[in-house]
Amino acid sequence: MANYEEVFKKVVSHSKEYGFIFQSSEIYDGLAAAYDYGPNGVELKNNIKEYWWKSMVNMHENIVGLDTSIFMHPKTWKASGHIDAFNDPLIDNKDSKKRYRADVLIEDYISKIESKIEKDLQKAHKRFGDQFNKDEFLSTNERVLERTKKIKEISSKMNQYLVGQELDKVKELIEELDIKCPVSGTCNWTDVRQFNLMFKTQMGATADSATDLYLRPETAQGIFVNFLNVQKTCRMKIPFGIAQIGKAFRNEIVARQFIFRMREFEQMEMQFFIKPGEEIKWYNYWKDQRIKWHKALNMGEENYRFHDHENLAHYANAASDIEFKFPFGFKELEGIHSRTDFDLNAHQEYSGKKIKYFDPEINESYVPYVVETSIGLDRMFLTVLSNSYKEETLENGESRIVLKIPHVLAPHKVAVLPLTKKDGMPEKAREIIQSLQLDFKCLYEEKDSIGKRYRRQDAVGTPFCVTVDHQTLEDGTVTLRNRDSMKQKRVLQLELHAIIAKEVSLKNYLN
Ligand code: ATP
Repeated sequence: MANYEEVFKKVVSHSKEYGFIFQSSEIYDGLAAAYDYGPNGVELKNNIKEYWWKSMVNMHENIVGLDTSIFMHPKTWKASGHIDAFNDPLIDNKDSKKRYRADVLIEDYISKIESKIEKDLQKAHKRFGDQFNKDEFLSTNERVLERTKKIKEISSKMNQYLVGQELDKVKELIEELDIKCPVSGTCNWTDVRQFNLMFKTQMGATADSATDLYLRPETAQGIFVNFLNVQKTCRMKIPFGIAQIGKAFRNEIVARQFIFRMREFEQMEMQFFIKPGEEIKWYNYWKDQRIKWHKALNMGEENYRFHDHENLAHYANAASDIEFKFPFGFKELEGIHSRTDFDLNAHQEYSGKKIKYFDPEINESYVPYVVETSIGLDRMFLTVLSNSYKEETLENGESRIVLKIPHVLAPHKVAVLPLTKKDGMPEKAREIIQSLQLDFKCLYEEKDSIGKRYRRQDAVGTPFCVTVDHQTLEDGTVTLRNRDSMKQKRVLQLELHAIIAKEVSLKNYLN
């Protein structure tokens, strides 16, 4: 396929054409950075949630779930630091009047250098063929070393200025690198300013009595304020975790790249409460667990990497992102943060209530430390969608678009297709669906030729098609077609449940 941008455009239009994602309020020309999940999208999204929830809650006896409200007492956000420090540095181009995140402009500049390294690699690979040693090339080629050095210098300067709130220096760096506005092509920049990302709203009937509230910018705080409720009612012993899936809202300065950066999105977060001093051990443990969870989906080991933070948030003493290779480059998919006792301490202070854990093993009370894993559900959706989109040329010269979604996440597991609409075939097909639908999401389709129906199922990622024909009525066998290999085999109708169960089982991914 031609280039990454083109592929990404195709993924976006495919997701609309096949009922995965629609622009929010489309009939009113849409609302920027808000999206609706269509019938296929919601199934895929629910399957991702289940894959996460089961791996966290079902598979750890010391992790429990929670579902807290989006509205929280406004003091929560003072305590958490979001009112004072949940800002992004913004910058405007005076000519185009377009607004950007200053750090993202610099990161995009770095990505361009990274893609040059990628090109150097590809060229060298071509030249040296099988003899090519990637690691050696990366550590010895002068041009690559120069580029890598430049990346390090830029990102270390950027981090230093952002942590030190030296916004004038951030602007100077943008000018020094000659970063131009992609729209106007000029370097005519305003100063860099801080912009708070929280959405404000009001609760109450009259203006005087109304309370200012915020839409939560992360689900984590709902977990922290319920720490004691959960610990006491469920008699949890440290170390233990609380998991939650829910909506979060951020007034992003620039929301683009489809569902990668939205203003309303969903997070899957788990806060793991531990004894102070053990945070680095658990931080490493969760880094390892989370990368395994991702890689188990077989979406390409090379598409993941860790990015350890130099620029730590106000609450963290170690942090790393799991980055995924999206069509527009490696970007953050999940964060693993060692949050210390910052949040629980702050809630103690602002609420005036003690939030301590009595540890029977050492006969002492303490404020637990926390290691968090936080993944964006929508970003995870985008990884699956963009990674599974394939255009294939078949042996007969025809082409097909297929979504090679991991079986466990596929919106529908099986489509049952009567060869014709007569001779009792539709009834037989419906009987088969009835025998499968409690355990697997099924589809019934009778319109168009069987070939066209296969293509439609390929395009929505259904791993199996079952075709009912005349022979089915005679000997109880059906044709089972595999999405990826397109191979077909004759199996007994009675065996279908067992065959499909084995192929789509969570056990193939989590163990
Ligand atoms: P970024 O640097 O991309 O703005 P972040 O570091 O602010 O992300 P976190 O606060 O660590 O993100 O949030 C945890 C996860 O929530 C992220 O890894 C990402 O998957 C998801 N997420 C954050 N902001 C958005 C958004 N605007 N739209 C969709 N997902 C998001």
